[in-house]
Amino acid sequence: MTVNQLQETPLLNPLLDFAGLPRFDAIVPSDVQPAISQLLDHCRALVARLSSDAVAATWADFAAPLGDGFEQLSRAWGIVGHVHSVNDVPAWRDAYNGMLPEVSRFYAEVGQNVKLFAKYKAIAGSAEYAGLSAAQRRVIENELRDFRLSGAELAEDSKPRFQAISEELAQLSAKFSENLLDTTNAFAELVTDEAELAGLPDDARQAAREAAEQEGKSGWKFTLHMPSYLPVMQYADSRRLRAAMYRAYATRAAEFGAVELDNTPLIRRILELRREQAQMLGYANFAEVSLVPKMAESVPQVLCFLRDLAVRARPFAEKDVADLRAFARDQLALATMEPWDIGYVSEKLLQARYAFSEQEVKQYFTEDKVLAGLFSVIESLFGVHLKPDCAPVWHEDVRFFRIETPAGELVGQFYLDLYARPTKRGGAWMDEAIGRRRIRQESLATSSKGIQRPVAYLNCNFSRPIGERDGKARPAIFTHDEVSTLFHETGHGLHHLLTQVDELGVAGIHGVEWDAVELPSQFMENYCWEWRVLEGMTGHIDTGQPLPRALFDKMLAAKNFQSGLQTLRQVEFSLFDLLLHSDYDPAGERSVLELLADVRREVAVLVPPEWHRFPNSFAHIFAGGYGAGYYSYKWAEVLSADCYGAFEDAGNPFDQATGRRFLSEILSVGGSRSAIDSFRAFRGREPQVDALLRHSGMITA
Ligand SMILES: [Zn+2]
Repeated sequence: MTVNQLQETPLLNPLLDFAGLPRFDAIVPSDVQPAISQLLDHCRALVARLSSDAVAATWADFAAPLGDGFEQLSRAWGIVGHVHSVNDVPAWRDAYNGMLPEVSRFYAEVGQNVKLFAKYKAIAGSAEYAGLSAAQRRVIENELRDFRLSGAELAEDSKPRFQAISEELAQLSAKFSENLLDTTNAFAELVTDEAELAGLPDDARQAAREAAEQEGKSGWKFTLHMPSYLPVMQYADSRRLRAAMYRAYATRAAEFGAVELDNTPLIRRILELRREQAQMLGYANFAEVSLVPKMAESVPQVLCFLRDLAVRARPFAEKDVADLRAFARDQLALATMEPWDIGYVSEKLLQARYAFSEQEVKQYFTEDKVLAGLFSVIESLFGVHLKPDCAPVWHEDVRFFRIETPAGELVGQFYLDLYARPTKRGGAWMDEAIGRRRIRQESLATSSKGIQRPVAYLNCNFSRPIGERDGKARPAIFTHDEVSTLFHETGHGLHHLLTQVDELGVAGIHGVEWDAVELPSQFMENYCWEWRVLEGMTGHIDTGQPLPRALFDKMLAAKNFQSGLQTLRQVEFSLFDLLLHSDYDPAGERSVLELLADVRREVAVLVPPEWHRFPNSFAHIFAGGYGAGYYSYKWAEVLSADCYGAFEDAGNPFDQATGRRFLSEILSVGGSRSAIDSFRAFRGREPQVDALLRHSGMITA
């Protein structure tokens, strides 16, 4: 099946219709298996054909048609994944899970295909290469890098071992998560004396009551899941209850419980295997491998970054702790502050200092005002226009918008799905529906001038509108945190939508280094803290009045509460992660806990009890994608704060020249050049940590 044949029969299966926007009005779960199978067959045939010796190793004969063929699969599968996330009903779940193993297998196969690797290498070594566009060269470079890191260059007799390690690592990660979940679920604290609930908010009591009732018990059941655990640690006056919950939480998946659920041996094995794989690839350790596709250049560079941050944050963290101890002693009659008191005392101190109600703030952030405010920030920063648009959608609440140039030319489009639904995945996220690229065959064009315009999904889980006013539905209202989340996801969206890159593989967020990808999103959050923006973006749900300045000042004052402590905590985790994957021998004498103790001696101001088993629940690095990459959170924060600092230097958060430069040097170029080059082009210098420290209240002006 060739690309052209697929195009001739698009109406048979709406998932195979690539002529325009996804056909959410027509696609049904039973379309998934036939469409995806057909696309997989097509892609496999394409791989076989393009990897043959008869096909020249050139961009036009090899890289371009391979990219075109793969795009159809990723677009169709992307639609399936999206619907599964926003409408997780049994039929869609089955349709998605039914094809997931086959799709994963296909991508694993491609990653191991040495013939494809050889073709890319041949292009890189050809006379043509120098004449390719910068974006095309970057696509080739990224392909070569990814093939190398998945072992494509190893000697044939080493490959089975490499593959076996990858598979064992995948199993170990899955087991790590399962153990953590099982031990989290295994614990419950049943409170039977109502007096022990003192301090807890009503909703937390209610939930605990219902949890007990579900098991036919009287009393209140508390668990180690966040919605149950956190309120106890924050609000429960009972020190006994807090201490019991804290100990249970801190010792999950460790040697104190069931031996088959202990993550300790898994940690050692994961570290050994990662190191072995890294050494097979010619690196000293796993941290070096992890950094290859990232913006950070070397392990020493990241260590230096983290240690510098620790030194700067330390005085503020020490003050945070001194304040906590003094408050605990003087106001709460706690002579000593135990680890299970910290959350509780912090909450009481926060209330005493900055008392204002989230509920009160929320009345000012009505949906129409917030969206208008967000759009006007985007329009004035980047010189584009946003307008409502029409498209088939997956739910009646979903809205659709278009971005245009001042001359009315289409730039991109996006869906906005704001409200929580029982069948929608939690959290907020941006995803792409269609990526920007130059269309090679005019017949495939979805718009004028041979450019395929990008389309994004912005998804949140905010409360839907409640009640009526004057016979009309009242608008939805959002917390300030939710507004901030919306700006964050919109930042990712703009990175995808405002790109000017013509090659799909490096357009928008494609190919952007992992530790730099949060730059545009965190950058946009800053605008939620600009008085000028908030003044225009708020209107009380009943009176229409903007947010009072005095309330804003309280929010601003509370924003940096304990930022010193929080920074040191992030540094501690990051430093531990990086040292564990670089300067630590899993086969040696020193234990993982000893390394952690050393890290804490170096940077921490609050040290948990000796029996705390933090590594055993550090799923980010042992079961997620953050191994030797946890530092990325702080790294990207430095970049985004420093970019915003350029606007502060200009004396105006909407400075036009700076906004256009952010657009052209950061957003437009996407992954077509390295993040550090983009940063330098925008800022005219290397990144500096000062803006982040200032924004977090850790530079005294
Ligand atoms: Zn993000």
